[in-house]
Parts: sequence; structure tokens; C-alpha cells
Amino acid sequence: MKKKKVGLFFGSFNPVHVGHLIIANYMATQTDLDEVWLVVSPQNPLKKKSTLARDFDRLHLVRLAIEDCPNLKASNIEFDLPKPSYTIDTLTYLKEAHPDKDFILIMGGDNLGTLHKWKNYEQILNYYQIYVYQRPNYELGNLATHPAIKIFEAPLMQVSASYIRKCIREGHSIQYIVTQPVFEYINSSNLYK
Ligand code: ATP
Repeated sequence: MKKKKVGLFFGSFNPVHVGHLIIANYMATQTDLDEVWLVVSPQNPLKKKSTLARDFDRLHLVRLAIEDCPNLKASNIEFDLPKPSYTIDTLTYLKEAHPDKDFILIMGGDNLGTLHKWKNYEQILNYYQIYVYQRPNYELGNLATHPAIKIFEAPLMQVSASYIRKCIREGHSIQYIVTQPVFEYINSSNLYK
């Protein structure tokens, strides 16, 4: 049987916003990927960040954001893996746990430029494909021509989670920058206030 191709989009998703969702949906619908999993990074116990919402809340927001989209999934796989989590370790774990799936990394051109600093990046390139979406103002670097890399021109929305947290702290509305269920959940909670 043909293996399912699953794209992994890693992030702290603090909170998940339309910039992330546009990429995830593009990769799930306009490439050969069957599904995209948004893999929520857990809090690193050695680097506690006061602005990082609890793991459970960030995962819940991702679930709310993608609930209508059957080929997008939220993953908490890294919550139970040793911390800090390294992408190569998560990939190795997933490959063993899901022999019926092929995992492909999704990353922005900004991350490709620094991939050579990642743990075992050569192993990642040898065993996995990476789908890269271009981001303005970032050079793709030398790895762009590596056979493991495929470059895509996805639509982009120039927003960030830090901008959203700033809006909330300053009392500005974040409607339309996040999906409506995420907007309502954040408004009715104490998150990022
Ligand atoms: P922060 O502002 O807190 O740094 P962020 O918005 O960059 O957060 P992350 O959770 O770090 O969100 O993002 C996950 C991945 O999505 C990262 O690889 C990041 O480069 C990418 N990303 C973030 N914002 C966008 C965007 N607007 N368009 C495309 N990719 C994005």
C-alpha cells in the first residue's frame, strides 16, 4: 500500500495564527502531501519563558484553529519526548511509530538558512525531504540546491505570534489575525493579558 505523505510543521504556536494556517493549508492542498501535522513544541524546562502559554493551552488553540480542516492535524508528540526536543529525534520517533507514513519537514526559507546549525542536520537531509516556502528578506543559502530540498512559493501573511501577544497586552483586537474560535477562546481566557 502507498505510504501517506505527512508534512510536519513545527512551532511554539503561541498562539497559532493565520500566517501558520495559510502555509499548512497550502502544503496540504497544493503539494503532494496528504496531510500536515502542526507539531506544538513544549515548554523547555531549562528555558522558561514567561510569555509562553502553557503547553495544553497552545495545543488547544491549534485544535480549535483547524477543527474544520480534515487534512490538518494537531500533534502533541513532543510533549512526552525528552526535552529539549531536537527535530531529528522527533522524526526518528515518528518514523518508528508510524511505518505506514512518510514524514516530510516543512520550513520557511528563514529556517533553511540556519539548518546547518541543527543537531544532525546531515542525517535529516539524508533521510527526509524538506519542503521550504520562501520568505521575503531571507536568503535560502547553500542548502537550497540540495536534492532533499523542494522550494515552494506559498501565499504569505506577514503576522507573528509576538505581534499578536503585543496587541493583546495593549488591548487591541486580534480578530481576523487568528481564526474566530481562537479569537473567542483567547478573549474569554486570561491568555497573554
Ligand atoms: P513568535 O513571534 O513568538 O516568534 P511566530 O509567529 O514566528 O512566533 P512560531 O510558532 O515560532 O510563530 O512559528 C512556527 C513556524 O512558522 C516557524 O518556523 C516560523 O518561522 C513560521 N512562521 C511564523 N509566522 C509565519 C508567517 N506569518 N508566515 C509564514 N511562516 C511563519
